[in-house]
Amino acid sequence: MSFDSLGLDAEILKAIQEQNYTDPTPIQQQAIPVILSGKDLMASAQTGTGKTAGFGLPILQKWGEQQAQATNKPDAKKGKRPLYALILAPTRELAAQIGENIREYSRYLPIRSLVVFGGVSINPQLMKLRGGVDILIATPGRLLDLVQQNAVDLSTIKMLVLDEADRMLDMGFIHDIRRVIAKLPKKRQNLMFSATFSDEIKVLAQSILHAPELVAVAKTNSASEQITQYVHRVDKRRKRELLSYLIGKNQWQQVLVFTRTKYGANHLAEQLTKDGIKASAIHGNKSQGARTKALADFKSGQIRALVATDIAARGLDIELLPYVVNYELPQVAEDYVHRIGRTGRAQNEGKAISLVCIDELPQLKAIEKLIKKTIPELTTQGFEVDPKIKAEPIKKSSQRRAPPKRGSASSNRSSQFNQDGVKSSSRHNHTKNK
Ligand code: AMP
Repeated sequence: MSFDSLGLDAEILKAIQEQNYTDPTPIQQQAIPVILSGKDLMASAQTGTGKTAGFGLPILQKWGEQQAQATNKPDAKKGKRPLYALILAPTRELAAQIGENIREYSRYLPIRSLVVFGGVSINPQLMKLRGGVDILIATPGRLLDLVQQNAVDLSTIKMLVLDEADRMLDMGFIHDIRRVIAKLPKKRQNLMFSATFSDEIKVLAQSILHAPELVAVAKTNSASEQITQYVHRVDKRRKRELLSYLIGKNQWQQVLVFTRTKYGANHLAEQLTKDGIKASAIHGNKSQGARTKALADFKSGQIRALVATDIAARGLDIELLPYVVNYELPQVAEDYVHRIGRTGRAQNEGKAISLVCIDELPQLKAIEKLIKKTIPELTTQGFEVDPKIKAEPIKKSSQRRAPPKRGSASSNRSSQFNQDGVKSSSRHNHTKNK
């Protein structure tokens, strides 16, 4: 299937051609016709599948069609720009990236889009809104602030997108979302995107969507097929040393590293820098300016390792990101799927390596249960686990969510060395638990 057959206007086709998109991705093939038909949509698609264009392109198309109709009407009010579409995203980074993509896709359309999020001054956003916008991309909290200040009129909205809905729930935005929805007109088209399909998501979908078409590009809760995943067992106190070794030995030039806490992210970035690997941390306590700079430096290759917490990294769009390292496993198994979704973008392959100490075996077990497969194991000579070290409970971080229930995860591994002295092995016994 080609983009030409999707019924998009020439201005949009020209813009996507300039993005070097030749064919629509599976989510685009499935979602675009549904959205153009006017139906509500519930899509299971993670970042990296091309979902932003999946909803962005048909929104632009429909906006264009409504403009043509409006200007044909004799009583069309001149100069007034009613807000047409609202896109809600959980994080500033994701909102900014959606905004960037929409701007690119709408390069040849006389449309105005604006991104608003918290953590930066509200005044420039107020000024820009005064001029009128057609598409608003927002995080829920800042949007409500703007509504309170009468800077946005949501009553004209025709299309609503909830992007990364699962993450919005995880981040506690449910009440904000409901408050926003209460201000929208009843008659509108709703599009919801989520990487995972929890019961909570289904409840939210039922309350927002009307007879939605369901579209799924990967099996629910399955990690992207393009991503090669490995587990590397290692003692906790040797993780940093192993990470520096792997980056150096394999000459990784761009690696995204996940830690569980903000403190851990800062500390690891400092340690990697001391090891001669340029690194920066990106997390919620950093100013927007510092986060944007770290991301720009990472994209331009000035830093090799970007160390991030789950929330900060959510939705990061870094083209061709080849390596993701889980320095610590997430407390919630679904976050693993989100994390490794940072690599293996659109048509590219990626590698995700999890450094797992003995304390994290229960999390590993929960992840493997969720993705329904045993992750193959890598070992490195000189970094074997010390059998004398016993598991210690992992301290709860300040996150609201509880870690998965602890259980035993003994494993029986067989290994063989490859030519680099890196052993690969597989575990056999705990498949029987699944
Ligand atoms: P997304 O899932 O929307 O974050 O998109 C992931 C990446 O895929 C982004 O870098 C997009 O620019 C890129 N992309 C989206 N659609 C296509 C396409 N049809 N062909 C090639 N790349 C695409």
